[in-house]
Amino acid sequence: MLVGEALLGLAKLVCDLGPTRLGVCEAASCDHVFVDTSPNSSRRYCSERCSSRANVAAYRARRKAQAEALALWACGGAVSYPGPRFKHTPPLRNFMREAGVSPGTR
Ligand SMILES: [Zn+2]
Repeated sequence: MLVGEALLGLAKLVCDLGPTRLGVCEAASCDHVFVDTSPNSSRRYCSERCSSRANVAAYRARRKAQAEALALWACGGAVSYPGPRFKHTPPLRNFMREAGVSPGTR
């Protein structure tokens, strides 16, 4: 009967907070459902673990995009550079912006 009681408690919590407070974890490999008890309904992950894992994944994806843009830039990106004509290779920062990659911080 413990499960029933837990479900009842959850149902009551959801009713008290409103249906918009129910969320599904945004982490790629997680489908946990959570009740958002944050003051401004900004919760995106079921746990700290998912949150930090997703942040690390996003960071890696950003770094990967940066590395790819850097490789493109270094390997003659200036030839097919779609922006204004540069006499020389455009500044990497500009190139990354054109390529839709945030130069970000290292
Ligand atoms: Zn999760």
